[in-house]
Amino acid sequence: MTTTPVTGDDILRGPGFDPAMLRFQFPILAQKIHGDKRLAYLDNAATTQKPQPVICALCEYYEFCNSNVHRALHELAERATEQYDESRRKVARFIGAGQEESVVFTRGTTESINLVAYAWGRKFIEEGDVILLTEMEHHSNIIPWQILAREKGAKLVYVPVLDDGSLDIEAFHRSLSSKVKLFAVTHMSNVLGTINPVKELADAARAAGARVLVDGAQSAPHMPIDVQDLGVDFFAFSGHKMCAPTGIGALYARRELLEDMDPFMGGGEMINRVSLDDATWAEVPHKFEAGTPNISGAVGLGVAVDFLANLGMDKILEHDRRLTAYTIEKLSAIEGIKIFGKAPERGGAISFEVAGIHPHDLSQLVDREGVAIRAGHMCAQPLMKRLGVGAVSRASVYLYNVEEDVDQLVYAIGKAKDFFKV
Ligand code: PMP
Repeated sequence: MTTTPVTGDDILRGPGFDPAMLRFQFPILAQKIHGDKRLAYLDNAATTQKPQPVICALCEYYEFCNSNVHRALHELAERATEQYDESRRKVARFIGAGQEESVVFTRGTTESINLVAYAWGRKFIEEGDVILLTEMEHHSNIIPWQILAREKGAKLVYVPVLDDGSLDIEAFHRSLSSKVKLFAVTHMSNVLGTINPVKELADAARAAGARVLVDGAQSAPHMPIDVQDLGVDFFAFSGHKMCAPTGIGALYARRELLEDMDPFMGGGEMINRVSLDDATWAEVPHKFEAGTPNISGAVGLGVAVDFLANLGMDKILEHDRRLTAYTIEKLSAIEGIKIFGKAPERGGAISFEVAGIHPHDLSQLVDREGVAIRAGHMCAQPLMKRLGVGAVSRASVYLYNVEEDVDQLVYAIGKAKDFFKV
């Protein structure tokens, strides 16, 4: 019997970073779709597939360790607690947090941002304050601020997006003033693929007196992250977009901010002492983790970040860049296609439309050829409005994608065009 989750080290020590070999680590990719079609999974910006070590870690956790954490004194509780705490240390290392107390486990990016809006925003945002966002935000980084602004009488200001899909940096600088209390920005757009110069933006925003929140949902899975080097106050990300299970993610926050913030939710785990009339709070980060946490999810996230770190985030980024360039080249050659987002710094979320075919129809038709892409407004309706469309199709690559996936997509789009005779 072993209680140590598989980390993937042994398996990965062999071939190194080779996407074609790596695919074997992801059992789901081996299946055939719609009869005999090879699966080309290109919906990674929505969620990624899980490697064998993560799947095994979940099984092992439930087979040998399952218990509640930080409470009982029996052996299983100790194993579960040790694994949960160890995962927090791994995540802290993975994002360069400096200290594990700066990492709060959440359900993912959405919950992390809501946590900040609720626990920091309700305490520190006042009437007349400005919350600076951008036109390329996911709804998760818009709606919590709309709710807060409405409640507090604060104002939302949006930095515009230029025609090539990059952020209007000059407009950003013009928008900064002592009224701006928070700048919340996506690191990488889930629609345009644009990678924003977060370090430079954070520097300027913090110099103007604002706090900076970065939505790292699309960046943490794809590039090395060092939150201290980026100089941000808050960094939110989701495990399921980086090989970990669904329902787990994290919020990084500078420790002094966490200490100043009010709790997010009340209940067990987040208290120190409770009387009938009053309570004191647990130390950070536990103050923000009310109730029984997603223990197995956190264990899975720990194994996932080990898996990614063993591969090398720089190598993953390099692979993304190569495959993104290949995808854009191949898609651009299709007559009637329009690609949204041509920013010089971009990642592997590639949105497009094919003249004469609605994105939903296109997605269904390519699915028949075994190709999984996304269609819709991508939870970014203000950006859709800016682009002048109601919906787009999106292909998004990850570490296990190979050129054959892209070729299969191009072939499937060709078949969809034949179907619609466009
Ligand atoms: N922000 C961005 C940029 C995203 O792409 C997503 C997921 N599509 C989210 C936030 C929300 O992530 P989650 O649903 O995992 O909370």
